Amino acid sequence: MKSVTQFYLDKTEEAVWHRGEDYVNKGRVRVEYYDDRKIEAIVSGKESYKVTIRWVTNGLRKSCTCPYKRGICKHVVATAIVWDELFGIARPSKDMVRFRTIQPPPISPRQITACYNDPLNADLDVIRIAVDYYALSPKAHARLPRCPRIETHEKVPLTFEEVKKALNEMEKWSRRREYHSYFCAGEMAAAFSEMLGIVEKRLPSSLSEVMINIMAHCVDWFYREFEQMIDSSDGVWIFPVTRIGKIVARLLDIYPSHPAWQEFNQIVEKVGDWWGEPGLNAEEIARWRDQCL
Ligand SMILES: [Zn+2]
Repeated sequence: MKSVTQFYLDKTEEAVWHRGEDYVNKGRVRVEYYDDRKIEAIVSGKESYKVTIRWVTNGLRKSCTCPYKRGICKHVVATAIVWDELFGIARPSKDMVRFRTIQPPPISPRQITACYNDPLNADLDVIRIAVDYYALSPKAHARLPRCPRIETHEKVPLTFEEVKKALNEMEKWSRRREYHSYFCAGEMAAAFSEMLGIVEKRLPSSLSEVMINIMAHCVDWFYREFEQMIDSSDGVWIFPVTRIGKIVARLLDIYPSHPAWQEFNQIVEKVGDWWGEPGLNAEEIARWRDQCL
């Protein structure tokens, strides 16, 4: 039999390859059928998936029941290694894996670090990609819109209803069947950040009283819904939070003597310390709103 691993090596990302090897080392591949034309196996990680690989006229045909759709998955790699070994073919050496596997997507850890060092000016596309690609167990997930539907023209005053509707729309995304609180977290945080950017842009033409309601709702929503929707993934919560902080700073610029915004600023400043702690709660925000209006 020709080597199956050699066929797949230059079509697989290095990290995925190592995860596949790891599965083999941990005995997670159960071969159900094999000969020199075909193999069927069950590969079990957190869940079990069925892998079939067979030789066809011009190469190999593979299928795996896992949701990973970006290319060769770790289950196929694991099955390929086992199949080769059943025919006495050694797995590719460390160097071979290093030099022959394909590159991961074009963002670097450095770009990600830059985002976290300056979250307010982070490239939101890097966040979208980073959470998706650098997650330890890649899995296909619902792809989300870049931003919920909301008027973007800066001269149109904001209404509470449209902001509420936009946030509702994001809640609906999180109820999609393929939504995953970890793998979708980057896109979700990016979309919320985009929406807050629009709120900030339209702020100068909006009414202060309306803004009190909007900001109260946004912060309340952040704690009540958003945090659960993203399961605090990789700290991506920092991106919308910094934008909320910027909106408050602008409100203070526009209404320097308005006690509501001074107080709100104090409440939001506490958010920076929050990491897995209860932080602000809906009641605190509701009390602030009731006092202000
Ligand atoms: Zn798979």
